Amino acid sequence: MHTKILKINRDAFSQSELHEAAGIIRNGGLVAFPTETVYGLGGNAFDPEAASRIYAAKGRPGDNPLIVHIADMDGLKEIVAQVPESAATLAARFWPGPMTLVMKKKSIVPERTTGGLDTVAVRMPVHPVAAALIRECGLPIAAPSANRSGRPSTTTAQHCIEDLDGIIPMIIDSGAVDIGLESTIVDCTGDIPVLLRPGGITLEMLRDAVGRVDIDPAITGPVDAGVKPRAPGMKYRHYAPEAELTIVTGSPERVQAKISELAEAARSGGKRVGIIATEESRDAYHDCDLKVMGLRSDESTVAHNLFAILREYDDDGVDVIYSEGFNDSGIGRAIMNRLRKAAGYRILEV
Ligand code: AMP
Ligand code: MG
Repeated sequence: MHTKILKINRDAFSQSELHEAAGIIRNGGLVAFPTETVYGLGGNAFDPEAASRIYAAKGRPGDNPLIVHIADMDGLKEIVAQVPESAATLAARFWPGPMTLVMKKKSIVPERTTGGLDTVAVRMPVHPVAAALIRECGLPIAAPSANRSGRPSTTTAQHCIEDLDGIIPMIIDSGAVDIGLESTIVDCTGDIPVLLRPGGITLEMLRDAVGRVDIDPAITGPVDAGVKPRAPGMKYRHYAPEAELTIVTGSPERVQAKISELAEAARSGGKRVGIIATEESRDAYHDCDLKVMGLRSDESTVAHNLFAILREYDDDGVDVIYSEGFNDSGIGRAIMNRLRKAAGYRILEV
């Protein structure tokens, strides 16, 4: 299949530029499109065949549900049975934006879209191209991240081309995304909202809006076989680079010393070594494939670059990667959640 690359300037475009893309989605096809979190692989959320095409294009297991993207609150009422109070409060505060809410679904949303669940995960994106595409379709768009299953999520159109060229009819290119990590997911079906996946809307921000918010244990540790995670995606291998990644956490001086020691040992064993550092620590490391994520003093810059860096290491062909860790607070919680999974939970505390 030929994949058309459609360039859209996010700051200056007209609705008519999205006419063809919307037509593809309305007819059951798939379009990769930018959002503020990561690029999404979109299809008609009401069409089970479109959901099947998404799973096939990604190589994703069919029990891993898709997030349904809406343009306004009318779109929400169309797909959820009821809006719990916590969801109404969170939506009023953070939508449109990088937050997904899980609610009981209406039967109009097919179970293939929700991975067989009777709940649906809903998000109202703030990215102007994403919002305009949903409006132009006149339908909610089911969209997971636009990467092949298991690979780091796509934060540029180039990443989408790497993973999906020849597999889908269109990729919309509006440059790099803003946040770089997938949305915060909150389960609003119970009495107390539960954070299922940390993201750009932090736990601290959620608690400020609704008071108590519990944390799903799958966020910080591996999901035990036999335990059913509340966010099904949490049980799958994710984001993993081909090289073995280890995270080192602790005070900056000890982390830098430990990583340097591990790198030296690996190099003497004939291995090619990658090190993921921050601007603050870059000068501490030598003789390695060094990549700087961003500023520790502004972790949003780290979130922005993380997935692109994990992808670059696959191209570089290193054997082992050592990465500095972050604190489990604010956006750092989301960064560590993705890093832990990418590392297969190989973490050294020093
Ligand atoms: P992605 O779109 O690739 O960021 O993945 C979407 C993730 O949202 C899935 O992997 C699930 O973990 C989560 N999710 C989607 N729908 C639901 C739902 N109904 N209940 C709980 N988690 C969900
Ligand atoms: Mg994903």
